[in-house]
Amino acid sequence: MSANSALRKIPAINTLLERAGAATLSERYSRDETISAVQAIVAHHRDQLANGRESTIDFSSPVFFSEVEQLIKERRQVNLRRVVNATGIVLHTNLGRAPLAPEAVNAICAVASGYSTLELDIATGNRGSRNSIVEDLLCEVTGAEAAFVVNNCAAAVVLTLAALAEGRDVIVSRGELIEIGGSFRMPDIIRQSGARLVEAGATNKTKLGDYEAAICDDTALLLKSHTSNFKIVGFTAAPTRRELAELAHARGVLLIEDMGSGVLSDRTGSIEHDEPNVADAIEAGVDAVTFSGDKLLGGPQAGVICGTAAVVDRLKKHPLARAVRIDKLCLAALEATLRLYAQGLRERAIPVLKMLNRDATLIKDSARNLSSRLSALPNVNCKIVETTSFAGGGSLPGEALSSFAVAVEHARHSPDDCLERLRRRETPVIGRIHQGRLILDCRTLLDGDEAVIANAFANLA
Ligand SMILES: *Cc1c(COP(=O)(O)O)cnc(C)c1O
Repeated sequence: MSANSALRKIPAINTLLERAGAATLSERYSRDETISAVQAIVAHHRDQLANGRESTIDFSSPVFFSEVEQLIKERRQVNLRRVVNATGIVLHTNLGRAPLAPEAVNAICAVASGYSTLELDIATGNRGSRNSIVEDLLCEVTGAEAAFVVNNCAAAVVLTLAALAEGRDVIVSRGELIEIGGSFRMPDIIRQSGARLVEAGATNKTKLGDYEAAICDDTALLLKSHTSNFKIVGFTAAPTRRELAELAHARGVLLIEDMGSGVLSDRTGSIEHDEPNVADAIEAGVDAVTFSGDKLLGGPQAGVICGTAAVVDRLKKHPLARAVRIDKLCLAALEATLRLYAQGLRERAIPVLKMLNRDATLIKDSARNLSSRLSALPNVNCKIVETTSFAGGGSLPGEALSSFAVAVEHARHSPDDCLERLRRRETPVIGRIHQGRLILDCRTLLDGDEAVIANAFANLA
C-alpha cells in the first residue's frame, strides 16, 4: 500500500472518538485524556507514513483503544516516583538520599493535609518562629547552645559565611578546599558569600602554626570542612578541633566547621562511629557546625547549624535567612526524626543507620529471599554473591561495607539491556553492572522490595 493511500485510510479523529472504546476510556480516565491520546497516536502514525516509514497502527477497535489506554497510563505516571534501590549505596543523591522513618512520613502527612502550628505560639496565640519547632531538640541531642535550620547544608554554609565573614578573611586548610558536587566548591562559595579566602598549609599537611601565621586583623573565622567524599592518606597532619578552637578564641576569631554528613553524636561500635560528629565538635569548642538533614542524620532535606547562642543569633537575623528557610514538610519530618534520637531510638528507627549497620546475616536472608523468587522465573538464572556497598552521599569516604547481592542473568537480555528494562518500569529497579554482571545489592532493599524486583523480572517483556 502506498503511503498516500495509507494516509487516506486513517479514520477521522471524530469517527474514532465516536466508537464505544473511546466512551469506555473517557469513563475510566477522562474525556480530555482520551481525546489527547487519540490525537497523539494518529499524529504519530501520520508522521511515520509521511516520512516513508512503516507504521503498524491498527485502527480497528479494540486493538487501537488498547494502545490509547497504554498511552494514557504512561502519561499518568508521575515523574517523581518511588524506586527500588538495589545499588548498595545507602545515601544515593540521585535516588533521593535518606528514606524516612515512618514517624517522619506520618508527620509530613499530618502537616501537609491541613493547617499547622508552623509559626504560631500556642501558649500566647501570637506569632511564633518555625525555628523554635526543632531548636530545643537539636540542642538536646548535640549539646549545642542554639541551633538554626535552613533548606540544605549548602545554604547553611552560605548563610554562615555571609553572616559571619562578609568583607573579611576566612582561613581554610589547602587540604580542605573541597568540591561537594554540583559545582559546590568551597573557594567559590566563600567568594559568593562576600568573604575572602585565605589558604593555609599544604594539601596533605596543615599545622596549627600555618593557621596562626594566616590570622590577621581582617580574619573573621577559621573554616574547617569535612573532606566528605575523598580521603587523603599517608603523610598527613591536621590540628585537632580543640587546638584550632583555642587558637581561634585566643586571637578573637571564630572556628566554624562544615561537617556535611551529620552524625549527631557518637555511638560506639556503629559504622558511623568513624565519622566526625556534631556533639564532639561542639564540645571541642567549635562555634558553629553545619550539616545536612538527609545524610547520616537520616531525615529530610535540611541544613542545620548548631553552635553558640551568639553566633546562631547572627545567622537568624541575617537577611539571607529568609531566602533559605526550611519548608514546613521538611520541618515536620525533621522534628519527628530528631524525636527518635531524643528517645534513644536511632539504631532501631532511622532507616539509613539500620541499613549501614545491617547485620550480614540479615542481608544474606534478603538475598536468599530474592534469589529464590527469581530462580522460579523462566529465563532467569541467578546466584548469591559477596559484594561491597558504600555509604555514599559524602559520608564514610573510602569505607567499603561487605554485603550480599544477587547476580542475575537473563536468557534473552544482556545485563545492560536488563538494567535498562528494570529502570523503565513503573516502579524502577536500580541495580548496577559489576564485571559484566547485573548485580542487585540487598543491603539497600526495604521491606517488600524482593517481591517488587521479582515482579519486574516476571514482566521484563
Ligand atoms: C553534602 C555536603 C554539603 C552539602 O549538603 P546539602 O545538604 O546537599 O546541601 C556541604 N558540605 C559538606 C562537607 C557536605 O558533605
